[in-house]
Amino acid sequence: MRLHGVEMTESKRIQLPSRVREQVLWENRILSSDRSEVVGYLCNYCLSNTRRDRIQVDHVRPTWLGGTNVPENLVTCCASCNIHKSRQLYFEYVKPGGWYTES
Ligand SMILES: [Zn+2]
Repeated sequence: MRLHGVEMTESKRIQLPSRVREQVLWENRILSSDRSEVVGYLCNYCLSNTRRDRIQVDHVRPTWLGGTNVPENLVTCCASCNIHKSRQLYFEYVKPGGWYTES
């Protein structure tokens, strides 16, 4: 539909290619103490060990600010952090006083 002369398009999430998602998951895997198996995935915000079916991949630089689907721009996080973070930027969400401090 057109509204005020502007073509309205449904904004779609850019689908993350599965090989990119797998690479990001692999880089953020948590191993058992004898390093023989993957026991979970790291939430880069609250540092929790998150089950595979609960882990999500988030953009450090969001796509609406020009961020792309390169692994360097992606971190794993738990569903609860992703919901709380919402549209805040990575460095807004990971505040000084939290685990992350910018030096
Ligand atoms: Zn988290």
